[in-house]
Amino acid sequence: MLKKDTPSRWIYDYFNQFEIHKHAIKGTIFHGESEFQEIVVAETECFGRCLILDNEFQSSEFDEYIYHESLVQPALILHPDPTKVAIIGGGEGAALREVLRHQSVNKAMMVDLDEKVVECSMKYLPSFHKGSYSDERTVLSFGDGRKFLEDCGEKFDVIIMDVTCPLEGGPSYKLFTKEFYELVKRRLTPQGVFAIQASTTSPAALYTYSVLNRTLQEVFAHVFPYAAHIPFFAMLWGFNLATDNLDPTLLNRDEIDQRIAERVKGDLSFYDGTTHQALFNLPKYVRKELSRQTHINFDNSPLMEKYPGRSE
Ligand code: SAM
Repeated sequence: MLKKDTPSRWIYDYFNQFEIHKHAIKGTIFHGESEFQEIVVAETECFGRCLILDNEFQSSEFDEYIYHESLVQPALILHPDPTKVAIIGGGEGAALREVLRHQSVNKAMMVDLDEKVVECSMKYLPSFHKGSYSDERTVLSFGDGRKFLEDCGEKFDVIIMDVTCPLEGGPSYKLFTKEFYELVKRRLTPQGVFAIQASTTSPAALYTYSVLNRTLQEVFAHVFPYAAHIPFFAMLWGFNLATDNLDPTLLNRDEIDQRIAERVKGDLSFYDGTTHQALFNLPKYVRKELSRQTHINFDNSPLMEKYPGRSE
């Protein structure tokens, strides 16, 4: 029986067709449809505002710093002097915010497929982007991230991939293949670093993470899987960092703290030298699965997860 104070409105995070997490909400702030996806901004009881695209929870106000610092900071701290950075996706503007904290960065090019998501974030998620869209170093464009890299004649010190998971029929599944990663590599400077969000490391659904890690290894000399617990997702979330000649595991606590002190504007809330050690030391079951994976993700048979919110 429901208690009297039990909230009457819930939203469902369809992690996959068999696992659903639910959050109580105070209300829906925005609900609309773009050419590419369904967009919802809701105010949750526990995590503040959140962005949901096609029933997939993207990030929440109260813990997005864990996700976005994890995605961006290890790559920028690893690079000796990042000046030019590209962000593929990242509609909330929080990955952009993290990039712009670096005083060495003089150009941050962000391309998101969906202008409506960015408009929505600008309006309803100010604590995520914190004005980053109007920073004079930001060059914002709209379109497919793969096409952007194909057409752009520039090279970047760091490329950050913050696109939605590779869902069947969704807009991003072509951005996780070997051929795409080869294109990324051509757009990196010799000491370039590539960082991606790479799905869950849940023991119940490790396939995507391990395949993406294996696929990156086909293209880059060094691939470093890492993970952070994201409370809003209620799971350990996977990332990968790929380079040809830098190694984040060789940086000790003090070196990282020193680089942060010298280069980063404002206080980080999650990432520092100690957190770095935790990020790059994965649990045994994850390491085991990564070492076992042999499948490589190619354009001609791309990995596509089932649409989580769609009932068959
Ligand atoms: N934190 C997220 C997660 O857990 O998946 C990713 C956040 S971010 C909001 C995802 C962004 O990727 C969206 O704004 C979406 O429009 C963008 N996106 C999806 N496919 C894309 C593509 N092919 N090229 C560029 N951006 C894309």
